[in-house]
Order: sequence, then structure tokens, then C-alpha cells
Amino acid sequence: MARYSPTIAKLIAELGKLPGIGSKSAQRLAFHLLAQPQDRVEALAEAILEARRTTRLCSVCCNLTDQDPCDICASPGRDRTVICVVENPRDVAAMERIHEYKGLYHVLHGVISPLQNIGPDQIRLRELLARLRSDETITEVILATNPTVEGEATALYIARLLKPANIRTTRIAHGIPMGGDLEYADEVTLARAMEGRREI
Ligand SMILES: [Zn+2]
Repeated sequence: MARYSPTIAKLIAELGKLPGIGSKSAQRLAFHLLAQPQDRVEALAEAILEARRTTRLCSVCCNLTDQDPCDICASPGRDRTVICVVENPRDVAAMERIHEYKGLYHVLHGVISPLQNIGPDQIRLRELLARLRSDETITEVILATNPTVEGEATALYIARLLKPANIRTTRIAHGIPMGGDLEYADEVTLARAMEGRREI
């Protein structure tokens, strides 16, 4: 990248660290930004900074939020007896799009993956267990981790932990193809997967 000035090279390098952005895309984005009026670029930079500054984890469900507790946890209209456990905040957004689920969530921020050295302590599992211990209104936990090897293993691990507690534990059905991703499932598939959930 020696042909670019140090500041442009730095911009390209930073953009290239974003997921799904290869070096060609990073260069295209950099030159697109440099061709924009100053105020548009400032608006983008400010939006990134502000989102980063104000976004934190909900102290109840661990979803990303700019207010604590988050909208969903704070909503009087939600069914407080059910918690749907998902891998990441994007999965909450996917579930919310189907408008059928009215319960609460818990976001793990990952799955157990021994190959990547991610154990139960590296995801937000302790928070889930503490929540279940302290909140007796919860009667069902729906394990909606992705149908990947790690997602299945994580669901089984959590189900085993919850066995002694008197909480119904269910796993979403396999409408979603093995290896698939919740966030990319279409709404009908996701709704069916929720309906077809079974005890684990
Ligand atoms: Zn929340």
C-alpha cells in the first residue's frame, strides 16, 4: 500500500479490519468517503462514535442497548415467564421481526467452542443462571442457539445445567438447516422453528 499517503493507507487499513471487507472493498470505501462532502463524513464518524459511546449491555438480558434495562426488558407487554436464549443481538432482531414471540431474551454473546478456547465462562451464561435463580416468574427457557455443532453443544450444556431447576427447557425445531444461522432464516421458518420447539 506504499502508493497511498500515510493517512489514506491508515484509513484503508482500518476499514479493512471490518468483517467482510477485503482490501479491495476497503480501498473502494476509503475513496468513496474521501469524495464525500466534509459534513457527510463527519455525520458518519459521529454516528459511529455516539453508538459506541452510548451502547452497553442490558443488565438483565445482556442485549445491546442505549438504556438499561433495554426496551424489551422494560416493556410491560412482554411475557415474563419465558426467556429465549440466543447467541447474539442480531438474533434478537431476527426474532423480533417475526412478531410472534412475546417473551424475554437472554443474549449469550457467543457459543461454547472448545476449538476456539471459548468455554462457558467466556459467554454470558453466568448471567443467565443468576437471572433464573433470582426470578421465580420464569417457567420456560427456549434454547435458540444456531443449529451448528457449537450451537447444539451449547444448548445441550445449558439444558443439563437447568435440569435440576424446575424450569421447562425447550429447543427450537430444525426448520433452520443444520449449520444455518438464525439471523438469516426467513420469518416463516423462524416462526415454525419456535412453534415446533420441544423439551430437551
Ligand atoms: Zn434487556
